[in-house]
Amino acid sequence: QCPWGAPTTTSISCSLADVMSEQLAKELQLEEENAAFPEVVAVAEGPFITGENTDTSSDLMLAQMLQMEFDREYDAQLRREEKKINGHSKVSISFENYRKVHPYDSDSSEDEVDWQDTRHDPYRADKPTTTPRKGFIGKGKDITTKHDEVVCGRKNTARMENFAPEFQVGDGIGMDLKLSNQVFNALKQHAYSEERRSARLHEKKEHSTAEKAVDPKTRLLLYKMVNAGMLETITGCISTGKESVVFHAYGGISTTEDKVIPPECAIKVFKTTLNEFKNRDKYIKDDYRFKDRFSKLNPRKIIRMWAEKEMHNLTRMQNAGIPCPQVVILKKHILVMSFIGQDQVPAPKLKDVILSSEDMKKAYCQVLNMMQQLYKECNLVHADLSEYNMLWHDGKVWLIDVSQSVEPTHPHGLEFLFRDCRNVSQFFQKAGVAEALNERELFNAVSGLNITADNEVDFQEEIEALEKMNEDHVQNQGKKLSMFSSDGDPPIYDE
Ligand code: ADP
Ligand code: MN
Repeated sequence: QCPWGAPTTTSISCSLADVMSEQLAKELQLEEENAAFPEVVAVAEGPFITGENTDTSSDLMLAQMLQMEFDREYDAQLRREEKKINGHSKVSISFENYRKVHPYDSDSSEDEVDWQDTRHDPYRADKPTTTPRKGFIGKGKDITTKHDEVVCGRKNTARMENFAPEFQVGDGIGMDLKLSNQVFNALKQHAYSEERRSARLHEKKEHSTAEKAVDPKTRLLLYKMVNAGMLETITGCISTGKESVVFHAYGGISTTEDKVIPPECAIKVFKTTLNEFKNRDKYIKDDYRFKDRFSKLNPRKIIRMWAEKEMHNLTRMQNAGIPCPQVVILKKHILVMSFIGQDQVPAPKLKDVILSSEDMKKAYCQVLNMMQQLYKECNLVHADLSEYNMLWHDGKVWLIDVSQSVEPTHPHGLEFLFRDCRNVSQFFQKAGVAEALNERELFNAVSGLNITADNEVDFQEEIEALEKMNEDHVQNQGKKLSMFSSDGDPPIYDE
C-alpha cells in the first residue's frame, strides 16, 4: 500500500500522441488567444455605441489598454535595442516592422515622443532580393550558379537577417558561416511560425480597429460623449477617408444651457495614423497661426490640431453665414458637428447629385459667392474645394472639410486658391453652366486681385511672385501685413 493513501481521482487519460501533437497544441493556443480577444469574433451589430451596450465592453477596453501598455513597453525595448545596435553609425537597421504598436495606434502618453526619432515608413515594402534573374554569375568555366554550395550557404546565412529580431540567430551573420539549405529551411520554418504567431495577435488588433474604425482611446472618448448624454446614439460610419472617419449620431441633451445639440450630428474622427498626414505638413507648417506651435509638437498633437483647425475654420464660416456644419464640440482629435442630411442619410456630394440646369446654375452662383465670402469675410482659402467637398442639401450648396483651409497670406495660399478655382471652374463648365468663369477669371473675382496674364503658366508665375512678395513683407515687418485686407479674424493662436 502506498504510504500516502490511494489516489482519489483518476487522472484523465491522455495519449502520448496527444501530448506530442503539434496540431493539438496549436489548437489549444488558438483557443486561448481567441478567449483573450473575443471581441474580434463578435463585432457588435447594430448601433455603434449606445448608452446601453457600452458598459459591457468597457472592461474589455481596459484590458485592451493594458495590452497596449504592454505592447508599448515591448516596443520601447525594441527601440533601445535598435539604438544600441545602430550607435552612431551612418547606416542603420530598423526594427520598425517588428513593433507591436504602429505609431499612432498607440495611445502613448503625452510626453512620449520617442518614436518621432524614427522617420521610416513603417509600411514600406520589403527590400528586394538580390538573386540575379538568370540564376548564375560569371563567365565560361568560372560560372557560379545559384545552386553553388558556398554561395548558397552564405546567402542562407545572410537571409537570417530577415527573421524577427527576437529570433536568436547568434553571430553567424558576422562570420563567414555557410548554412546548408536543410538547416536554413528548418530555421526559417521555425522563425516563420514564431512570427505568424505574433502576427496573428497583431492582425486581430488591426482588424478590430479596421472594423470599428476607431482605436480604443477614440472609442472611449465617444463612449464618454454618449455616457454624458450629449449624444444619444452613434449609429454608424458614413465615410472612411484617408485622413478621417465620419460617423453619424443622434444628438442628445446639452449639458450647458446655452448650447443646443442638433438632432443629428456628424462626428469626424481624425485618423491617428501618421502616414497620410505626413504630406499635409505644408498646409499647417507655414500657417503662421500655427507656426509657434508646430515645431514643439509631437505628431499626435498635430493631428489634434487638424481637428482644432477645422473647428476654428467652421466657426468663421458660420459667423459669415456660409452654409456649413455647425460645430458642436471638439474633444482631442474628434470633432462633433451638425449633420448635413436627414435620417442618417448624408446629403449627396455635388459630384453625385443630378441637378436641373437651373439648379446647377444656382449652385454655381452660390459657390462663387461663398468663395468670395470665405476669402473676404473669413480670411480663408478652402484649399481642398471641389465637387467632393460640397454637399447639396435643402436646395443649396454646403461647404465641408475645411481642416486644411488656410489664410490667403499663407505662403502657398494663393496657389491653393488657384487650384480651388480650377476645380470649381472645370466642374461647372463641364456641368454646362454657361455663366461659369474660367479659372483665372474666377481667381480674380474671388481674390479681388487683378492678374492679367492670359495663360495658365504666366498666371501661376504671377501668383507665385505675389506670394513671394508677401512673404518678404512678412519677414521685414515681422508680422502680418500685406496687400490683403486684414479685417478677418485676428490670429487665433497668438494668446
Ligand atoms: P475627408 O477629409 O475624409 O474628405 P470630409 O470632412 O470631407 O473628410 O468628410 C468625408 C465625408 O463624410 C464627406 O464627403 C461627407 O459625405 C461626409 N460628411 C462629413 N461631414 C459631414 C456632415 N457634417 N454632415 C453630413 N455628412 C458629412
Ligand atoms: Mn472630403
